[in-house]
Amino acid sequence: GRPPYDDANIFARILRGEIPCDRVAEDAHALAFHDINPQAPVHVLVIPKGRYVSSADFHATAPDAAIAGFWRMVAAVAKSQGLEEAGYRVLSNMGPDAGQEVPHFHVHIFGGRRLGRMIA
Ligand code: 5GP
Repeated sequence: GRPPYDDANIFARILRGEIPCDRVAEDAHALAFHDINPQAPVHVLVIPKGRYVSSADFHATAPDAAIAGFWRMVAAVAKSQGLEEAGYRVLSNMGPDAGQEVPHFHVHIFGGRRLGRMIA
């Protein structure tokens, strides 16, 4: 079933405005902001504005407009950060084996340098 959502997680707090973030983009469906501990010259997180723990949760239960808007924002952020030509990586950690730290679905956008073939 749908995993329980923890309203105290750090991204929920950012969405409620309780914790500041360095905003890159925002619309009705999603928020993009710089990662606090960047692993590349560009490291932006994109999160949906809903209570979704995982990718499966988000894609199974979010309205289609929210899903479309989310992925459009991912592409728009990459473009606005100047990554379109050189390329970039989109990554999402899901659950314990992937080391997901924040239980609110998010994708990382990495770019601005040559990225290694990181698999594990
Ligand atoms: P995960 O391992 O869950 O995929 O990644 C969580 C990411 O969120 C990490 O890259 C971490 O640096 C970032 N992060 C954690 N807390 C905060 C915060 O309070 N603000 C911002 N901007 N990023 C955070």
